[in-house]
Amino acid sequence: MTRIIDGNSLAAIVREQAAIQVQEFEQQTGTTIGLAVVLVGDDPASAVYVRMKESDCAQVGIRTFDHRLPADTSQAELLDLIDCLNADSAVHGILVQLPLPDHCDEEEIIARILPEKDVDGFTATSLGLTIRGQDGIRACTPLGVMRMLDYYGIDIEGKHAVVVGRSTIVGKPQSLLLLAANATVTVCHSYTQDLPSVCRQADILVVAAGSAKLIDKSCIKCGAVVIDVGINRGEDGLIGDVDFESVAPLASAITPVPGGVGPMTRAMLVENTVQAALKAGSLRQNT
Ligand code: NDP
Repeated sequence: MTRIIDGNSLAAIVREQAAIQVQEFEQQTGTTIGLAVVLVGDDPASAVYVRMKESDCAQVGIRTFDHRLPADTSQAELLDLIDCLNADSAVHGILVQLPLPDHCDEEEIIARILPEKDVDGFTATSLGLTIRGQDGIRACTPLGVMRMLDYYGIDIEGKHAVVVGRSTIVGKPQSLLLLAANATVTVCHSYTQDLPSVCRQADILVVAAGSAKLIDKSCIKCGAVVIDVGINRGEDGLIGDVDFESVAPLASAITPVPGGVGPMTRAMLVENTVQAALKAGSLRQNT
């Protein structure tokens, strides 16, 4: 029997726990946890993501500071805003919705966010701490995937995990987290030769390529766990990177799209924001 990994239900559990922590934090410090959300331009998909993230925050009691800026906002203006948010003690986390318009240097903007407020886990510091296995904020999507594997009791240790995609925000940190959990990890990308045969070695297959239905049954070992990070827009709505219909019968567990990794990514943003606030709170107490 294939288990369908239900990201919506698990995300709801994460939010319930976060709501309790938010309330306790408020009682102990008299401060509401705050997340600054920066959206530049009018990309409709980004606007939807931001709306959903803000709604998650509202649900758990996190206050959001909305910064919606026109598409022609300059790099200097954005950097100034990040500096202000870094300095604002009411802001515990900063989310800059990507992609930014073409004229913006994303790397420079992300690098400007204080690591302790980097709740997306995208800065070089967060990634460096991930590599070193040290305490720090982990990128939301890979963290959400790890949480799903854990919740569903999926054994990672000693297993062969194959990650398709090597982006800095998903593929690379995902491979690091799987490695830290003692999987043997293979990372695939657009230069990988014979992708199906590499994927067929996977006990755990995580796909984050951004290519609709790239992975079909020819890529699956019987009993594999298949995690589909991909979000592609088709005529009938969202499509994953995995051809769910052909793959599900072979898999022991699989995430759907939508309703799999997406909600968990947002839940981890909430959790990272709470953790950032708790850390800031305890640092203040110790100084
Ligand atoms: P990127 O475009 O930054 O990276 C895609 C990666 O996939 C690259 O490393 C690329 O290889 C590799 N790749 C692309 N096509 C192939 C192929 N045919 N065979 C093998 N490898 C391939 O994307 P992201 O990592 O940002 O996102 C990946 C997908 O996940 C997207 O659909 C995105 O929308 C989705 N996403 C979903 C989230 C969620 O919450 N569910 C969160 C974040 C992203 P190369 O490096 O060689 O170019």
